[in-house]
Amino acid sequence: MPCAKVMLSIKGSRITKNVKHEIHKAIHDNTMRTFLIKKYEWTVGIFDSIDWPSHSACLRKRPALYTPAIMKLVHRWQPTMQKTSYYTQDNQRDTCTLCGGVETHHHYMYCGDDQYRLARKNEWLKLKKYATMACAR
Ligand SMILES: [Zn+2]
Repeated sequence: MPCAKVMLSIKGSRITKNVKHEIHKAIHDNTMRTFLIKKYEWTVGIFDSIDWPSHSACLRKRPALYTPAIMKLVHRWQPTMQKTSYYTQDNQRDTCTLCGGVETHHHYMYCGDDQYRLARKNEWLKLKKYATMACAR
């Protein structure tokens, strides 16, 4: 900035907005990257293949209340019947209570129950409406 007396530069990039965010990112991103690669035994390629900006954008636009549910969905940690059947002693059922199909991670997208199918269709129509409205802006 020509009239500024000071300028923030991180790794050669001038920071002109969101200074707090950029400093936080510069401090913690590498630490988090190292932690995740070690924890999940990923390669750098696997880490880089993840669309981190989309994760961030999704979480930023939602109330913090939804963060755990979103993270469970992204990381496939949802307590589906298939998952819970691994650790529940009294209920080893892995099938959907509505349609009888094996309830896997993406079952909510394929459940054959008529009421569920109708609800899913209505939610898709709502999403389509919002997406159309967002594109029109
Ligand atoms: Zn089902």
